[in-house]
Amino acid sequence: MDFDLFVIGGGSAGVRCARIAAGHGARVGVAEERFWGGTCVNIGCVPKKLLVQAGEYGAWADDAAGFGWSIRKGPHDWAKLIAAKDREITRLEGIYRKLLNGAGATIFDARATFIDPHTLDVGGKRVTAEKIVIATGGHPERPPIPGAELGIISDDAFFLKEMPKRVIICGSGYIAVEFAGIFQALGAETHLVYRQPLPLRGFDEDMRTALAEALTAQGVILHPDRVLKNLAADGDKRVLMFGSSEVLSADLVFFATGRKPNTAGLGLDKAGVAARPSGAVIVSPRSQTSQAHIYALGDVTDQVNLTPVATAEGHALADTLFGGNPREISLRNVPSAVFSTPPVSTVGLTEEQAAAMGPVDVYVTKFTPMRHNLSGRNRKTTMKLVVDQASQKIVGVHMLGEDAPEIVQGLAIAVVMGATKQDFDRTIGIHPTAAEEFVTLRTRTRVAGVAQAAE
Ligand SMILES: Cc1cc2nc3c(=O)[nH]c(=O)nc-3n(C[C@H](O)[C@H](O)[C@H](O)COP(=O)(O)OP(=O)(O)OC[C@H]3O[C@@H](n4cnc5c(N)ncnc54)[C@H](O)[C@@H]3O)c2cc1C
Repeated sequence: MDFDLFVIGGGSAGVRCARIAAGHGARVGVAEERFWGGTCVNIGCVPKKLLVQAGEYGAWADDAAGFGWSIRKGPHDWAKLIAAKDREITRLEGIYRKLLNGAGATIFDARATFIDPHTLDVGGKRVTAEKIVIATGGHPERPPIPGAELGIISDDAFFLKEMPKRVIICGSGYIAVEFAGIFQALGAETHLVYRQPLPLRGFDEDMRTALAEALTAQGVILHPDRVLKNLAADGDKRVLMFGSSEVLSADLVFFATGRKPNTAGLGLDKAGVAARPSGAVIVSPRSQTSQAHIYALGDVTDQVNLTPVATAEGHALADTLFGGNPREISLRNVPSAVFSTPPVSTVGLTEEQAAAMGPVDVYVTKFTPMRHNLSGRNRKTTMKLVVDQASQKIVGVHMLGEDAPEIVQGLAIAVVMGATKQDFDRTIGIHPTAAEEFVTLRTRTRVAGVAQAAE
């Protein structure tokens, strides 16, 4: 065999797995067909956050007047921002490539596909490996409506030549609401169109409501309960029609309506690897596929599609196979953030999930952050704790507001450790912060769950 381990895909999961396995002394090959670092570094988390930050500067310039500054805000230069972003991404991509080389992995700038369970075609070359990892990630999918090709997807949004004056974003998942915040903050008239009554399906209802209010306060025009029918061109304009025959036109239509695992044409059948109808590779908790020596990691398994989960899975698998440290990662209490404007961050169960399991004490607070009493900006923070009534353990922490991801990351440790409401109560706050509210929530807002229904 040419390699002990061959990794298909040089994204978050693949790079981490290849690098750690090579560090453990394995002979590792890794193929990447597009860009090292994958989605997160090139067309995901990192460039997205840079664009969010670009938008924040504009709002801060406006806020400063309330603090005595006279800042005259000029127009935003989109091309300059994209060029700066591209330089940073090129730098990061180089770092990923270097990390793999440094660890002693053999890298292939090529597409890899299965020929048989131990043999791959890597850019026209036959390569054999004892163990193989599928870490091919996913891609955005347009909705199945006529004219969908006239709209863009998130991959394109990072490379637009110019900022549209009027944009329609379809979808209400985290990518949709993040880009709504970005486009609005950078000066576009932004419409968010979605099927549900509230954005961010699957998140806590209080957060969904707070986000709808925050988007509206930011100036994003919401169109809930809409079913897409078709998209057409009218010269340079794009005209979107809904099921109700209502139409909405814009310079740009952006579909953020879902993602699909990258398994088409990979040859899973030749490798004997089972997948779901969606294309997602089926894995055990230790990332093993239906073929014992083939593993799958990250978004291609469509479980919890986040970079830290992909890297943790990659690291655990390399330790298991080559480090003499067999382990699996837990997908419970995975903290996450939505970099909307302002952001939402959460760890643990929503009130609805927790209440379905038993009675819960719910604490909610909503306030204007200190800064905005002076800035005059219409911006609120909402914070919420969900507490299991029987054990008094904190089972859910949710926040919409400035710095929410920074705050919730710390609290996630407490939740993973099984902290109780009493542990939060005996923790002294840091004043004056928004975060201190999490340790000073004394008055229960409501009880939810089974016992309440029985009362
Ligand atoms: C717009 C956007 C914003 C996001 N923001 C966040 C965020 O803020 N926080 C967060 O945690 N997550 C975020 N994510 C999700 C995150 O990017 C993914 O969860 C993560 O990249 C998954 O890593 P992966 O290694 O599984 O796949 P990927 O990073 O997609 O890597 C897979 C790689 O495999 C390559 N590949 C595919 N097929 C082959 C083949 N046959 N041969 C060779 N190479 C192949 C691809 O080119 C790709 O580089 C975001 C995603 C998007 C799209």
